[in-house]
Amino acid sequence: MKTDFLKKFISFSLTFVFIFLLSFESIATISSSDQQKIDEYEKKQEELQDKIDAAQVEIDKLKENIADKEEYASQLAVQIDNYQAQIDVLNEGIAELEAQKSVIQEKIDELDSEIAKIEADIKQNEEDKALTEDEIANVYLELQDRLREIYVNGATSELELLLDLDQSNDFSNYLIIMELSQLRAKKDEEMIQSLNENIRKLDLLTAEYNLMIDEIEVKREEHQVQVDELNVKENEIVVSKSKLVDSQDELVTLQEEAYAYIRELDAESAAYEKLVASYEADIKAFENKIDEIINGASKGNADIASKPGGFIWPLQYSDVYISSSYGYRYDPISGVYKLHGGTDTCCWSGTMGKAVRAAASGTVIISTYHSAYGYYVGVDHGDGIVTIYAHNSSLNVSVGQSVQQGDIVAYAGSTGYSTGAHCHFEVRLNGTKVNPTGYASLP
Ligand SMILES: [Zn+2]
Repeated sequence: MKTDFLKKFISFSLTFVFIFLLSFESIATISSSDQQKIDEYEKKQEELQDKIDAAQVEIDKLKENIADKEEYASQLAVQIDNYQAQIDVLNEGIAELEAQKSVIQEKIDELDSEIAKIEADIKQNEEDKALTEDEIANVYLELQDRLREIYVNGATSELELLLDLDQSNDFSNYLIIMELSQLRAKKDEEMIQSLNENIRKLDLLTAEYNLMIDEIEVKREEHQVQVDELNVKENEIVVSKSKLVDSQDELVTLQEEAYAYIRELDAESAAYEKLVASYEADIKAFENKIDEIINGASKGNADIASKPGGFIWPLQYSDVYISSSYGYRYDPISGVYKLHGGTDTCCWSGTMGKAVRAAASGTVIISTYHSAYGYYVGVDHGDGIVTIYAHNSSLNVSVGQSVQQGDIVAYAGSTGYSTGAHCHFEVRLNGTKVNPTGYASLP
């Protein structure tokens, strides 16, 4: 218990107390109020770290959720596009079918008028035929009468008259009778001729009638074919339209699903952003606290040369080289032109896990994780001089610990804002970042 207390006393975290002690150059016992402040600070730091860790877990979960939903929403978008394409194809198909249907309808209309015309012709033909048949019947009846007359009288009455006249020797009457007889004969001949003509006419009309009946039959068959085709097209249109309705329904369902996902996504993104903001605020608070520690470090004449043994480079390897100098540069991650506050060095033989050593003796004031610096160590060397060693893979000292020049404070790595294993070495004189190569040389 007593050793613990002494350890804590020697290696304790807040520098201002240390400086306060140093300024008296005495190994006095720590006051209970200072101890309380240290405890409070450490407790706060732990609480903050816990909060940050919890927020990070929540953020990772949300990020995963959002990624899943985005993935699903993009799958839905693909499906929606597919349905849209199907709908377009169906609409095109329906338009094509409608066009075909109207062509067929035109043909049907044309056939209808042709059929109507033929029907009128047939009707006319039938009327003509009926008239001709009547005429034939009339002439035929007349001829029958004539034949009956000849038959009943045994001979023509003109012949009888002629025979009678022979006896009277009246030749003038004979001539009249001859004329009469000729007239009779002519009338009979005309009747026969008319009968023949009408029969021929009837034959022609009948032939014409039969042709028209055949033609109308053909037209009616064609008409039926077209009507059947029209029905087929209409059925196809009905099927396509019902498919269209199905596709549109499916599309609406998918769109609603996608909108629901997007709304969820928005809600989760908002929650995510809120958490990230609170996380960033926590980190900022933490980092401000660290800045406070650095700012609260020793103040003085900041004369490194006056330090015994001067300063040594943290990477004590013969193959060390500068990978990025102190000064203004385009940030390798953000691309922003800004001050690079330290010097980055690497080893040709590999930097990961290489020992990072204290540049001079001092007290560890920081040994923690930082979003930008990664695992890093801050050492207060007194007289306003602080050195920082960042992006380590692991830490080898704790806050409050005294270190001698060359002690291993950490092992190099690539944590925090880093693109590869290196040691970021920073020198602050009374809080201002200066070029480390002005104070220490590479081995
Ligand atoms: Zn750096």
